[in-house]
Amino acid sequence: MIDKVLSKKLKSLITIRVIFVTLLLGSFFILQVGYRDFPHPRSTLNLIIALYTLTIVYAILLKRVKMYALFAYVQLFIDASAVNMLIYLTGGIESWFSFIMPLTVMSAGTVLNKRAGYIIATFNSILYGIIIDLQYYRVLPLEYDTTLTEKAFLYNIFAHISAFYLVAFLSGYLSSRLEKTSQALEQTDSDLRDLELFNEEIIENIPSGIFTTDIKGRILIFNRAAEDITGIGRKIALRQKIDGIFPFINPPIPPLPKGGERELETMEGVISHRKEGDRIIHLTVSELRDITEKSRGFVGIFQDITQLKKMEAEIKHKEKWAAIGELSANIAHEIRNPIASLKGSVEMLRENIVTEEHKKRLTEIALKEMDRLNNIISDFLTYSSPRPAEFHTFDLNLMLDDTLELLAHTASVRENLTITKNFNGPLFVSADQQKLRQVFWNLGMNAIEAMPSGGELSVNSRESDDFAEIIFRDTGAGIPRENLGKIFYPFFTTKDEGTGLGLAIAYRIIEEHNGKINITSNNNGTTFKVIIPNVNGKA
Ligand code: ADP
Ligand code: MG
Repeated sequence: MIDKVLSKKLKSLITIRVIFVTLLLGSFFILQVGYRDFPHPRSTLNLIIALYTLTIVYAILLKRVKMYALFAYVQLFIDASAVNMLIYLTGGIESWFSFIMPLTVMSAGTVLNKRAGYIIATFNSILYGIIIDLQYYRVLPLEYDTTLTEKAFLYNIFAHISAFYLVAFLSGYLSSRLEKTSQALEQTDSDLRDLELFNEEIIENIPSGIFTTDIKGRILIFNRAAEDITGIGRKIALRQKIDGIFPFINPPIPPLPKGGERELETMEGVISHRKEGDRIIHLTVSELRDITEKSRGFVGIFQDITQLKKMEAEIKHKEKWAAIGELSANIAHEIRNPIASLKGSVEMLRENIVTEEHKKRLTEIALKEMDRLNNIISDFLTYSSPRPAEFHTFDLNLMLDDTLELLAHTASVRENLTITKNFNGPLFVSADQQKLRQVFWNLGMNAIEAMPSGGELSVNSRESDDFAEIIFRDTGAGIPRENLGKIFYPFFTTKDEGTGLGLAIAYRIIEEHNGKINITSNNNGTTFKVIIPNVNGKA
C-alpha cells in the first residue's frame, strides 16, 4: 500500500525532473543564454546531459528496485548535489540557478516526508555554504563582482538556508495534511462500502418480503423473502410493475399529499402463488423520499398471512360453539330454578294438607315463578334472535324523556329516589328507536335496582362532533372491580331475581349502531356512557 503510493510519487518525481531538465537543456541549445556569462558553459551542458542520462537510469531502475525509500533518498541526494554543482559551474553566488535548491527540498518533503525535507535542506545548506564560503576566500577558481562585500556573502548564505528550512517545513506540513485527508477519505469510502453491503445483507435476510419501486411503480429491489412469498423470481419481478405482482394494489400506489406526513397504507389481498395456490398477503406501503424530501418511489413490506387467517377462522368457530354450550347450560340453570319452586308449590297444593291462607300464598309463588320464567324467555329471545335494526331519524331527547317518565312510575321507585334530566332541545339521530329505548330502559332499571335505599339517577345527553353521548349516573353501591369485566356477559347477575341479560342486550344493540358503552364505577356510584354515531340523521 505505502510502497505503491511511494512508487507513484517517484514516477512523478522522475517525470517532473525530465521536463525540468529538458526545458533547461532546450533553452541552452535554442537560446544559447548565458553561454558567454557562465564561467564553465561546457561543463554546465555536460552536467545537464548527465542528469538527463541519470533520469533514464532511474526510470529503468524503478521497475526493479524494491526499497523505494532508499531509492528516493539516492535520487534526492544526487539531485541536490547536481544542483549545487550547477550553481558552482554557473558562478556560485552570482549563479541564476540557486532557485532550484528549494525545489529539491520540496520534492524530498512531498515524495518522502517532513524528515527527508529537513535532511535535504541541511544537505543543501552545508554544500551551498561551503561553495559560497570557498568562493569568498577565493579557494575555488570562481570570479565574482568585487563590489560584493563579506556581509553580502553572509546574507546570501543566511537567506538561502532560511529558504531551505522554510520550504522543508511547508512541504512536509502540506504533504502530511494531504496524506491524512486522503487516508480519511479512503476510510470513509470503505466504511460506506461496508455499510452498503451490510444494508443489502439485512434486506436480503429479513423474513418479511420487501420491495422498492420507482415513482412509476417499477420494481427496483425484491428480496429473498419476497421471492418465496410470491413464488416469483427476482429476475422476473424486476421487469414488472408492482400491480403486476400484487393486483390488489389499486390504484397502483396511493397518491400522497405534497409535503405531507409520510403516510403508511396498509392493505390485505390475495395473490396466486405458482405452486401453493391462493395466498393472503398483508402489505404496508409507504413513500420513499430522499434527504431533500423529494419523492423517489415506494417501499413495501409484506407477509403471507394465509396460515394466520386460517387459524383465526378455526378459533372463531371453536369459540362460537363454546359460547353456545355455555349459554345452553346457563339457560337450563336459570329455568330449572323457577320450575323447581313451581313444582314444589303445585305438589303441596295437591297434597291438600295446607290451610286456605297457605294455599293462596303458594298460588302466588307459582304465578310469580311463571312470570319469571316468562321474563327469562322473552329476555333471552330478545338477546338471541334480535330482529334487524331499522334506522329512522328521531329526537333522542324526546325518547329519553318518555323512557325516564315510565321508569319513574315503576313499582321499585321509592320516594327518596330522584331522577334528574340534564338535557333540553331536540337531538336528532338516525337509529332504531325501539331498540335504543330498550337500552336506556335496562340502564335505568339497573341504576334504580342499585339504589334500594334511595339516591339519585341523573341522565345527561349531548352532541359532540358527529356523536350523541348519553350518560346514566347513579349514586348506588357501584360494581366491584372483579365484576367489571363480566357484567356484559349473558346471564351474569348478582341479583336474586335478575336474569343477567339486561346489559348483554344493551351491548348488542349499541354494537349494532356502531356505538360504544363505557363504564366507570366506584363505591359512590356507577356511570354508564353510551356513544352513538349518526347524529342529525347523517348516516
Ligand atoms: P341483571 O340486572 O338482571 O342482574 P344486567 O345485565 O342488567 O342483569 O346486569 C348485570 C349485573 O351488573 C347486575 O347484576 C349488577 O351486578 C351489575 N350492574 C349493572 N348495572 C349496575 C349499576 N348501575 N350499579 C351497580 N351494579 C350494576
Ligand atoms: Mg338489569
